Amino acid sequence: MGRGLRPDRVARSVFDIDLAALRRMGITALCLDLDNTLVGWNRPPDERIRSWLAAVAELGFRVAIVSNNSAARVAAFCDELGLHGVAVAHKPRRSGFRRALEILGAEPSRAAVIGDQIWTDVWGGNRAGCFTVLVRPLERREFLGTRVARAFERLWLLLLRRIDPPASMNRPLPTDPR
Ligand SMILES: [Mg+2]
Repeated sequence: MGRGLRPDRVARSVFDIDLAALRRMGITALCLDLDNTLVGWNRPPDERIRSWLAAVAELGFRVAIVSNNSAARVAAFCDELGLHGVAVAHKPRRSGFRRALEILGAEPSRAAVIGDQIWTDVWGGNRAGCFTVLVRPLERREFLGTRVARAFERLWLLLLRRIDPPASMNRPLPTDPR
């Protein structure tokens, strides 16, 4: 498991994550951040995320959304997709992740937290004892407080790249069909 503000892995986006590799590592449950991880901030589910979630389910992962956004936002997104959701999770506090893992019946050691923010998703996921994957935010549009935090995140990532770079979780690029 990662420590503090260091993610175990980094990936370009959820769509680039090597899901089969996660599965081979013994991960059975995913706690997913919502805004700017699965879709843009406050955006409804789109086709891309629907098919990604279908692929995730097909691989046997159990999934819950863990978001600091409002109950209305999380319910609207989750109800449409039939997903479990924990809203107003107060990440980086552990309680939201614990609730999600309880719903999914998963141990923290078998769960991965995937999100676009270090201070909430990575730090919280690490505190909860989960495997953590940091993805790049899908859009630049976001909550003002988040924009301030981003500046510090970029600095921290630059530093981390120098002292102890997390390995990539990107799927290997498909080889040329021949
Ligand atoms: Mg986010």
